[in-house]
Order: sequence, then structure tokens, then C-alpha cells
Amino acid sequence: METRCSICGQARAFAWHPGLLKCGNCGYVWADLDFSFDQAREIYAKSYFFGDEYIDYLAESDILKFAFRKFERKLIALFPGRVEKPRLLEIGSAYGLFLDIAKEDFDATGLEISDDAAAFARKNGHKIIQADLLSLGTAEEYDIVVSFATLEHLLHPEEIMRQVYRLLKPGGYCYVTTIDIESPFARLCGRKWRMIHPPTHVSYFSSRTLTALMKNAGFSVLECGPVWQYRSLDAALLPKYENSILYKAVNRSGLTRVPIPFNFGDIIGLLAKK
Ligand SMILES: [Zn+2]
Repeated sequence: METRCSICGQARAFAWHPGLLKCGNCGYVWADLDFSFDQAREIYAKSYFFGDEYIDYLAESDILKFAFRKFERKLIALFPGRVEKPRLLEIGSAYGLFLDIAKEDFDATGLEISDDAAAFARKNGHKIIQADLLSLGTAEEYDIVVSFATLEHLLHPEEIMRQVYRLLKPGGYCYVTTIDIESPFARLCGRKWRMIHPPTHVSYFSSRTLTALMKNAGFSVLECGPVWQYRSLDAALLPKYENSILYKAVNRSGLTRVPIPFNFGDIIGLLAKK
């Protein structure tokens, strides 16, 4: 068991939850396990997106794309007056829903471990790399690297971010969203917080430790704070109320597909510059 924290370097970790260690100095929480690239591919088989973690990932495409469009507008605004499309890499591109939006403004590539998700995105015309990020060779290739709700799934995030720094051109940007284990809501829930589920969630950051991660990798952190999320009534109600008269009436009106914003403050976004 490695008790040295990869964020602050101190060896003061203690067992916090079955399978999870917490740094007694900076509060970073990580899973006390290791798996290979091939083992990770098995974890993120089709059942992860359809049954295990998500009920039906693609049934929520319209709502997910609504949220991705907001991120995309924010990111393209970082390149004012740019004629050629900035080169973008998305780590953990899943079924390519962000790429569907980003391709309008960016020369976009996805990095995805799941066979099913990668095949789906390729069928929709996207460039998908199916490899370990740490094995990618070309330095200073991208103008921006983004990652949505993926960092918490990655072992050795400190190595990942050093590699992202290397892959970016000088002045390039990195935007990541992840879960915040020190947010008031996560603290209130304690060990029952909905985001605590190793082995799929293995790295648990806060604004403080995520900022430290990026600075350790060489980045300047421009902003870090909670981000809004969106759900449909379908996603919230369908498993329980699908057969109720009220649900059927609301469904006929189309209201069950309206994106409903919510913000528990426990998902954060960070923008950094090389
Ligand atoms: Zn620490």
C-alpha cells in the first residue's frame, strides 16, 4: 500500500473508506489499487454505459449535448480571431457527444478506452485514439486538452497531467471537470456521497488539490469553481414513475426532455494555461 500522497508528497495517508486512502495533509483521496490498460478496458465495457453506472447513456444524448454546448462556447471563446480550427484532444470522449458539438469549431480528436464507445464515435466520423494517454508520442500537438467527468476515473492523475502539459503547445489550455470531495454537499453526505464508488472512481479531488495537481504539472490555473449540470425529468423519474398517469401526461407535453439545471456544488471545472 502506497501511503505517499501524489499531490502534496507527504506520507500521512490513512484508510478512509474500504478501498480508499485519504491524505492527512491535503485531503486528496485515492483508491488503493492498480489496474492495467486492458483491465480498465474491461471495466468500461458496454455494460458500464448501459446498465451499470448509467441506465442508458445515449438516451440522455440531448441533455448531455445541451451541457456540452455551453462548455464548447466557453472554450472556443479562448481563441478569438483564430482562422484555422484549434486542435483539441478530449480525454475520455465516450460516445463522442462533446465531439459532435466541438467539431464545428475545433479540429477535434477523442481518446477513449471503451471499445463500444470508440466504435460508435468513429461511425459518426470522429477521430478516436484508443490508447493509454501516457503512451502518446507527439509533444506540443494540441491547442487545448479537455476532459469532462473523467479525471476521477484515472489512476496516477499526476502522470496524466504532466503528459497533458507535454502534449499542449506553449500557451495552450486545459479544461477539466471532476468531482469535489470537499464541497459542502460532499462533506454533508460523508462516506455516503453518491460519487464514492471505487473501482470506477479512483481519484477524488477538491478545488485545492485539483489546483495543486495542475500547478505541480507546470500549469497556471486561471479559474476553478462549481459547474452547472443538467438532467431531464426522464432521467430523474423514469425508473420509478414510468407507468403513472401524471408521468404519461407530462411526457406527452414534451416537458420530460427539457434540460433542468442543478448545482450541488460538488462538480468543479478548472481552466489552466501552459
Ligand atoms: Zn496530500
